[in-house]
Formats: sequence, C-alpha cells, structure tokens
Amino acid sequence: MIDPFGRKVSYLRVSVTDRCDLRCVYCMAEDMTFLPKAEVLTLEELDRLCGAFIELGVEKIRLTGGEPLVRKNVISLFRSLGARLDGGGLKELTVTTNGTQLVKLADDIAAAGVKRINVSLDSLDPATFTALTRWGKIEPTLDGIFAAKAAGLAVKINAVAMKGVNEGEFDRMLAWCGEHGFDLCLIETMPLGEISQDRTDQYLPLSVVRARLRENWTLEETDYKTGGPARYYTVKETGRRIGFITPMTHNFCESCNRVRLTCTGTLYMCLGQEDAADLRRPLRDPSVDEAGLKEAILDAIARKPKGHDFVIDRRRKAPAVGRHMSVTGG
Ligand code: SAM
Ligand code: SF4
Repeated sequence: MIDPFGRKVSYLRVSVTDRCDLRCVYCMAEDMTFLPKAEVLTLEELDRLCGAFIELGVEKIRLTGGEPLVRKNVISLFRSLGARLDGGGLKELTVTTNGTQLVKLADDIAAAGVKRINVSLDSLDPATFTALTRWGKIEPTLDGIFAAKAAGLAVKINAVAMKGVNEGEFDRMLAWCGEHGFDLCLIETMPLGEISQDRTDQYLPLSVVRARLRENWTLEETDYKTGGPARYYTVKETGRRIGFITPMTHNFCESCNRVRLTCTGTLYMCLGQEDAADLRRPLRDPSVDEAGLKEAILDAIARKPKGHDFVIDRRRKAPAVGRHMSVTGG
C-alpha cells in the first residue's frame, strides 16, 4: 500500500475499545460517554479486518485504545493475530497499555508472540499518578510493568510531558528506567478532544526537557528508528534509549507509515485530520466479498493526507481535532 505521497503504509494501529479504567486528564473528560456495544466490532471482525490489512502489506500491528486490556477476552485477538506472525505476513504484534491488567495478562500476551510492549506511566509519584489519572493507583501499573518484564517482554515506558505536573520527574524516571532495563519515550501533549482543562497551560516543549536532561545525562545521537515518530538517543550512563515524540515542535509527517482503525471500524488516515473511511459497512455487508473489503481499504489509503496541522492556540481554545486519543487510538 503506497499513499499519494509515496509513503509505504505498513503499520496499523487498532483501537480495540474506547473504554478505559483510568481517566488521564489530557486524554479523557471525567464523564465520558462510551460507544454502544452494537457499534463496536467483535473481536472476530477485528481479526478479519486486520487480516485484510496484512494481506495488503501491513507488517506491524499495535493494539491500543482506550485501554486495550480491559476489553473482555482480548487475549483471543492477540492469539489470532499472533498466529499470523512467523510467515503469516505479520512481522510484529505489539500493544500500548496503561499496565493495570498486566499482572493477569502478561504471560498470555507473551505466549501469543508479542515481544515488546509500551506502558504509559507519566509519574513515579503515587499522588501525582492519582491526580493525573483522576482515580488510578500507581501499584497495579508498577506491578504490571514488572510482570511484563518477568514474562520476557521488552518494556518501553511512555510519559506525556506536562508543564508543572511531571516536569520535575524526568531525571528520576530516566534513572528508574535505566535501573530496570526499560527504554523511555517522552511525548508532547497533543490537542485532541475536549478535556475539561486548558491545554496551553499543560504544554511543555520537549526541546526544553531535553536541554534540562543534558545537564545530568549524556544523550548520544543514534539513528535507531522504530518506524515511528520518536527521535531516539542512547543514554550513555544507563545504556538504555530515550525517545522524544514532538508533534508540536517538529513535523514528523514526511515519514509517516501508519493508519489507525477505531473499534467501530473507522479508518483514520491521519491522527490530526478529520477525514476517515467507514470499513464497518463493507465488513458487515454480506454482498461485499474479501476483494471488495480490500478495495475499500485501498480507496482510503489513496486519501491519506500529507500531514497534520496541530497547533495549541491561545486564542482558539478548541482542540485541533474533536475526537479523543482514546477513540483514534494513541
Ligand atoms: N490506555 C493505553 C495507554 O494509556 O497506554 C493506550 C491508549 S492511550 C490513548 C495511548 C497513549 O496516548 C498514551 O501513552 C497516552 O499517554 C497518550 N495520549 C493520550 N492523549 C494524549 C494527548 N492529548 N496528547 C499526547 N498523548 C496522549
Ligand atoms: Fe485511558 Fe490510556 Fe487515555 Fe489514560 S491515556 S485515559 S490510560 S486510554
């Protein structure tokens, strides 16, 4: 699958649910209304749709959400997709999670063929963690992270950098990740979805964070790439990597290789644009065969836009895109 700008689309992010057991302040409003079940694709439908993408050239799938691991029986989707690894066309299956269910699920996830996972953890301080997630406790996430490590999964910690919230913690987090053998990836807040706060107050440019980290750590340039938008450095003192995802200060769209599928079968060709394709209709239409489904996918890829126009604007308080990250899949 090649888009109109010559970019090969080989990475599919799949939001398996819009629901979550936490309410991170930058991601969701406190009183979210979730989708009715009938609109949500079954796990079998998600597997069939992912299968069509794989046959069209997708090599990497990341399950995300909402919180992917709170979806009932989600392990069956890990297993069916995992069966497509090793010769089935899929090269990597992975997941982004808040970690709360990992104590229960890490072994099954590893057994399905997952090698590496991303766990979101914005703070190591229990009180800050609870404030950020509105009601979460840090212990299940920390226990989950160590369960994943014990299951043999490589863990990358994702943290959203927020001014005045966790900005004093990154030295500690980098040391903690180094100590336990995790990579760390810092993310700028993106203006997605109405949340009950002003984002201009939260926004912290990672150029500032990187400069501060350099006062205590040696960050060595590397050409390590995961095919994603992060720019990576090796931390000389720990030997682990640190990545920076800077959608607001650096335009990473030129090398974008991904599209995003929501749990209702809507395909977003860009995280930062409204255009989307409804794949649930052809998927559920008995008169549409496998070839018709693939045609619908290819039609959508042909509309992949050049890039996003994120801006955190003091005058215009509205988000750049109305839907939340939990809908499109972070
Ligand atoms: N629940 C899972 C988790 O938290 O890892 C997966 C879904 S979550 C939407 C995926 C990632 O998106 C998380 O790392 C989260 O911190 C990030 N995220 C959510 N809203 C964001 C925003 N407005 N700006 C930047 N990152 C955001
Ligand atoms: Fe849930 Fe992940 Fe959004 Fe936090 S970032 S509210 S854990 S979906």
